[in-house]
Amino acid sequence: SYSGAIVQRKVEDLPPGDILIRVEYSSLNFKDALSASGNKGVTRNFPHTPGIDLAGKIVESNNTDMPVGLNVLVTGFDLGMNTDGGFAQYARVPAQWAVPLPEALSLRDSMILGTAGLTAALCVSKLLRNGLTPDQGEVLVSGATGGVGSIAVALLAKLGFNVVACSGKPEQTSFLRSLGASSVIGRDEIAQPNPRPMLKERWAGAVDVVGGDMLLGILKTLKHSGSVAACGLVGSTDLAASVFPFILRGINLLGVDSVVVSLEEKASMWQKLSHEWKLSNLEELAREIGLEDLESSLGEILAGKSKGRFVLKLT
Ligand code: NDP
Repeated sequence: SYSGAIVQRKVEDLPPGDILIRVEYSSLNFKDALSASGNKGVTRNFPHTPGIDLAGKIVESNNTDMPVGLNVLVTGFDLGMNTDGGFAQYARVPAQWAVPLPEALSLRDSMILGTAGLTAALCVSKLLRNGLTPDQGEVLVSGATGGVGSIAVALLAKLGFNVVACSGKPEQTSFLRSLGASSVIGRDEIAQPNPRPMLKERWAGAVDVVGGDMLLGILKTLKHSGSVAACGLVGSTDLAASVFPFILRGINLLGVDSVVVSLEEKASMWQKLSHEWKLSNLEELAREIGLEDLESSLGEILAGKSKGRFVLKLT
């Protein structure tokens, strides 16, 4: 079994890299909960410092584009997977992993968003590129109270979409409405085993973090030419789909990966998140924790009980 501990380590023991960052904030993502519980698909070698997100100030640098004093954020690449991550006061990474903090965001804002925010933005961007517009009808978001889900709800609502939040937490209906959801439905309404290859058309688009029966249910209920951005696996990694919705309704299954993204696209997503897509209700999503709270908070995530985003304060 795997256990967590807060330990003192020397900066010299950090992995190689051209910038040393004094980490001010990190955040908690589903992948961190997998890493911290010994999931070998995320982290092969232990002991390990998880944390796939971090934001802080550069305190040592060998790279002229990333000078000492610059505030940066790091998400994706190998951070927190097999490279020591953001659940630490210092991190050393290759300069190419860092994005200068957009001026309109604080370090804290950037971690309320974190990988979840970047992923939600990539999902929305891919849906828009595939022609989704607000006049086409309702857009569904699954796992809506989670990190990616809650930010996707807020972003889509900000962009004028009629958002239906699908959640296993009926008690969080008012939270989801405050983020901009126009209605809230239960998981079972979509993730129902049903032998029919297609069901009544409902959604112009969707963001799915669940996979399995949820993604299958979405594929069966997308309107003609609709798209779903699939980015998660909290329910299941399987997908037992038939080809019918694809060939009879022309629907699109859009895969989203936030790890391998060009630096240009990443920077462009962060620019959007700090300007035209900037959420005014970011703090409503945040729950601040310290290192001593990690174990219980990661447990909440694994149990599917978390809400919004955990920001980890390190200074
Ligand atoms: P969170 O734990 O914050 O949110 C997940 C939410 O999904 C929960 O809050 C819950 O919401 C719902 N949920 C949990 N368990 C189940 C279940 N068994 N069946 C159905 N719904 C469930 O996770 P994140 O938002 O950080 O990540 C969501 C998913 O997206 C993960 O699978 C993660 O790996 C993936 N991801 C992928 C990325 C990529 O690059 N492709 C990047 C970031 C995340 P509710 O109760 O409201 O239904």
